[in-house]
Amino acid sequence: MSRYIESVCKLCRREQTKLFLKGDKCYTKCVLEKRPTTPGMAKPQRGKPSAYAIRLREKQKLRRFISMNERPFERLVANASRAKEASGDHLLRALELRLDNIVRRIGIATSLKTARQLVLHNHIKVGGKTVNIPSFTVKPGDVVALSPRLKENVGVKLSLETAKRLNNRPSFIEFNENDFSAKVTRLPERAEISFPVTDQLIIEYYSK
Ligand code: SF4
Repeated sequence: MSRYIESVCKLCRREQTKLFLKGDKCYTKCVLEKRPTTPGMAKPQRGKPSAYAIRLREKQKLRRFISMNERPFERLVANASRAKEASGDHLLRALELRLDNIVRRIGIATSLKTARQLVLHNHIKVGGKTVNIPSFTVKPGDVVALSPRLKENVGVKLSLETAKRLNNRPSFIEFNENDFSAKVTRLPERAEISFPVTDQLIIEYYSK
């Protein structure tokens, strides 16, 4: 993604949703909770937003949640539109099963950015082989493991503590605390998907 150099909390304030872009801090010192206003708007906007504006915001929310540029995101939506199942379900499931997201959901990282970094720096194995592609699709039965040399890493330990405290690891992931590995046991159900968006609005945005 092109480099965004402003405060990422502004993105959450713009979308009026916690996008969890700062890892641990999002659970303890969330800026959105202290400053719930939209950046650059001293007064709330008047009037109802148009149907286009509602769909645009929903699309931007998901894109910012996953830190993805417009072009690859558009390609994902186009693939989802060709799927046999409902396009929205297909899109969200494809995003949920990306390797960087699975690493986040295991609890090895508290933000997608950190998870992506772990993958890119060759710290993650899938089925015993190092995979350094964040968009790699994890399949049911795959075992995702952290490289042994990172088991004592302070950041990883903190993230795992946060995951334990929040107790939000989904039931389609079986985590093994002894070797820091996790098995994806099945496809995620719609209710288990971690992106707080209305997929229908996103599909409608692109089908204009
Ligand atoms: Fe968003 Fe996290 Fe900042 Fe809260 S702390 S506004 S969730 S990035």
